[in-house]
Amino acid sequence: MSKVVIHGHTFKIKISAAEIHKAVSDVARQINIDLKDKKPLFLAVLNGSFMFASDLMKKVNVECEISFMKLASYEGTSSTGTIKQLIGINEDIKGRTVVIIEDIVDTGNTIENIAEQLKELGVSEIKIATLLFKPEAYTKTIPIEYTAIVVPNDFLVGYGLDYNGLGRNLADIYVLDYVADEKK
Ligand code: 5GP
Ligand code: MG
Repeated sequence: MSKVVIHGHTFKIKISAAEIHKAVSDVARQINIDLKDKKPLFLAVLNGSFMFASDLMKKVNVECEISFMKLASYEGTSSTGTIKQLIGINEDIKGRTVVIIEDIVDTGNTIENIAEQLKELGVSEIKIATLLFKPEAYTKTIPIEYTAIVVPNDFLVGYGLDYNGLGRNLADIYVLDYVADEKK
């Protein structure tokens, strides 16, 4: 499929499934070297990272655990704006090496927020593995240890990433096709 229509907008293919799988294999290979004796806990951030997490973990061969978490967003009572709280962590993560698995790092707000909360829970080492990274949008200093694919500042859909709830099931990654949309 070179084009898909989601919520009336046309998206064209940007990164093929084959390209994704090669990049995921490269990340797994590096993790297998770096984390060999660390017994890491992989924490996949739902919903977007489910496909990346699944494909990545099939290629990771170090002794490890995997768990899943979500961010609950709610408005705080103070004027500090939206607070995001981690939910779903039942493991004792004190003193562990934790690898956060993300679908995409954009501004870095999400990843920074997660890292701060994990530090408060006493993890000894935090690493980030992301499928996609947008360096042009990134505003933080926290290092992104494992990036599968670096992308420009475009809106992407597929392979876990959604557009208003749709498109997560696509095997390839798509970008909004402005030309096709303007013709309407
Ligand atoms: P950040 O907190 O790094 O700015 O953004 C992280 C979140 O924004 C991602 O987990 C994802 O939900 C959303 N996001 C950022 N860029 C994209 C994109 O290109 N496509 C989709 N579908 N979501 C995105
Ligand atoms: Mg995400």
